[in-house]
Amino acid sequence: MLAANDHREIGRRLDLFHFQEEAAGMVFWHPRGYRTLRVLEALIRRHAEADGFAEVRTPQLLRQPIWEASGHWQHFRENMFLMADDALAVKPVSCPGHLEILRRRAPSYRDLPLRYSELGLVHRNEPSGTLHGLFRLRQFTQDDGHVFCEAAQIEGEVARFCQSLVKLYGALGFDAVEVSFASRPDERAGTDEVWDRAERLLQQAAARAAIVPVHAPKAGAFYGPKLEFSLPDRLGRRWQCGTIQLDLVLPERFDVAYVDASGERLRPLMLHRATLGSLERFLGIVLEQHEGRLPAWLAPDQIVVLPIEADQHDYAQQVQSELRAAGLRAVGDSSRETLARRVALAHEYGIPYVAVVGRREQEARSVSLRHSETQRVVALDAAVSELRHACAPPL
Ligand SMILES: [Zn+2]
Repeated sequence: MLAANDHREIGRRLDLFHFQEEAAGMVFWHPRGYRTLRVLEALIRRHAEADGFAEVRTPQLLRQPIWEASGHWQHFRENMFLMADDALAVKPVSCPGHLEILRRRAPSYRDLPLRYSELGLVHRNEPSGTLHGLFRLRQFTQDDGHVFCEAAQIEGEVARFCQSLVKLYGALGFDAVEVSFASRPDERAGTDEVWDRAERLLQQAAARAAIVPVHAPKAGAFYGPKLEFSLPDRLGRRWQCGTIQLDLVLPERFDVAYVDASGERLRPLMLHRATLGSLERFLGIVLEQHEGRLPAWLAPDQIVVLPIEADQHDYAQQVQSELRAAGLRAVGDSSRETLARRVALAHEYGIPYVAVVGRREQEARSVSLRHSETQRVVALDAAVSELRHACAPPL
């Protein structure tokens, strides 16, 4: 039996998603849950666009030579789903796809920094014992992104990412962010000189963004150092979500280049970055953080319209369509249950606003608006604009 505040139990109670043995580590998203996931995706898209990323989409299946070039064949094969006599693998990351796009153009130095983002559906064959609801999945959406730039642009790019990330977390309700700086591991590619430079660049960039990271010795990736961002939640747990990593290896292995002012082909540097990491896991964190009562902008349904009697059914429909026309996620409940029961059901489902309409409201073209213990009668037009404001996403 799961605890009431376990996100798997919340998912069942609120009819958001389910898991079953035949697809371990993968989510069956129900309409209400998928609505919420899409709202989160839309916010992450806007955030990436505002940061200058161009969204791309790359194949789910890639042949072995690509994974050999990326190093995943050597370092990550146990965690990949292989197909067709192992010649094909389902992607666990989107980096190679973005490198292949870059390889097909020779951008000018004027085009740099070049930023590609992807809401990549990735698969990782995690051992079944480690799977844990949305927290650890085999299939999830990674808010991936890569920046290709010149060495002189690294500091600015990393500083810009840090600032924008802290703003994103604040908007999502996480004000405390812990940052660690993961330096060179024992097993690594590249010379010490290159690592000295890469680590210095990342540290300077963090300082420029007024971030003081905790040092995590030897915790870097084999291809470069990274900054990792963790969010402490209400229950005292820490979730590593964001990351930015300087890559010294892949641009070389994929032979990507840009053309400088004198027409010479030069190697760009590469940054890998993610903001939430896994969108599914982030939803799991937020569901537990709010005990299933998601903030209005993220809630699957933002408002339910309840007619008191059958006579107000048409007016309730009208209210609902006006709310929907204004972009709000409005639903109705004209069941034969008592009003008190329908209000209680809306509460159980975590719907933040309830609009009750009776004869008086119908005559006055108003609604009786209930929200966290308060209740007042508001003209319909005013209610629509008030709710639009109150349910708007934070970014
Ligand atoms: Zn990457």
